Amino acid sequence: MATNQNQTFSTKLITWHKRHGRHDLPWQQTQDAYRVWLSEIMLQQTQVATVIAYYRRFLARFPTLPDLAAAPVEEVMGLWSGLGYYARARNLHRCTQVVMDRYDGRFPQDPDIIAELPGIGRSTANAIAVFCFGARQPILDGNVKRVLCRTHGITGFPGAPATEKALWALAETLLPRRDAASYIQAQMDLGAMICTRNKPACLSAESNCPLSDICVANAENRVTELPQAKPRKSLPHRESRVLLLHQGDRVLLERRPPSGIWGGLLSLPEIAAGVNPAVHAAQALGCDISRFHALPPLRHNFTHFRLTLLPLSGAVSLLPRAAEAAGHSWLKREDIDAAGLPTPVRKILKAFFGR
Ligand code: SF4
Repeated sequence: MATNQNQTFSTKLITWHKRHGRHDLPWQQTQDAYRVWLSEIMLQQTQVATVIAYYRRFLARFPTLPDLAAAPVEEVMGLWSGLGYYARARNLHRCTQVVMDRYDGRFPQDPDIIAELPGIGRSTANAIAVFCFGARQPILDGNVKRVLCRTHGITGFPGAPATEKALWALAETLLPRRDAASYIQAQMDLGAMICTRNKPACLSAESNCPLSDICVANAENRVTELPQAKPRKSLPHRESRVLLLHQGDRVLLERRPPSGIWGGLLSLPEIAAGVNPAVHAAQALGCDISRFHALPPLRHNFTHFRLTLLPLSGAVSLLPRAAEAAGHSWLKREDIDAAGLPTPVRKILKAFFGR
């Protein structure tokens, strides 16, 4: 696209955004880098409608970055529970420690330095620098990638390194000289409201897309083809046997290791294939259980594999000897909603306790 066309692209977006964009999201009323950063991390892979409640809850509990830095990571994981992609919450907490240690509790302003903080990539760093410090930088989140692939007819899976490189180069050339913050917000909003993944406005009878007359995909009837999907490969499948040991209205949980799947969250104790559950319960958890019942399996898809959880329930009659050893704790039925549990484990517990 020549310079004039680039200007047309940004001008159309900014003009559209003034009248039709979103201006009242909770994180748009501030230039506080802590708040903007928190919203940007939550919005990765999560819809705005879901994020709003979590964002408000986080700020009510942790109004400032030092508050979040001072909290135990378990409490942060508990508040994050249900948002998924838990590495984000662990990195969130780590990031606050680094900002406290290296930058005296204040976010650095240079986007290259922001991008070195835990859990912050180039696009998020640029968004923080644009919205909070007046920088002039492009962003490339999922919405923007989709819009650029369609408007400029970019082929190739947007997550592939070569395509991503081409998209960054394009995003740089499209950046207007002024009003970068409005332009960036306009791109995000257009992707979320008009040029959506499954129902782009131009495919409806009354298209209200401000870019329809300059959009390559629209002109060439390739809207449903772009952006190109990730090349498919079948996901590996794993099974995991877990113990649901209960006593009255309490259930025994163990804390997962800090890294890996569900890192740092509370989960049901896992037993390796081939291990007798009664032996494991007695030796590792101090619970004597003579009879187990198989509960319905629960399937869950991660981005890189599919998991089937196979729960076995067992009633603990006597107070266990070692169940509260390192990493294990009893959770009351009434605390299931508030605890930092992976969503599939919460589902199993709710089904078990009949809620
Ligand atoms: S014309 Fe269609 S594909 Fe092109 S930007 Fe608008 S909604 Fe997206």
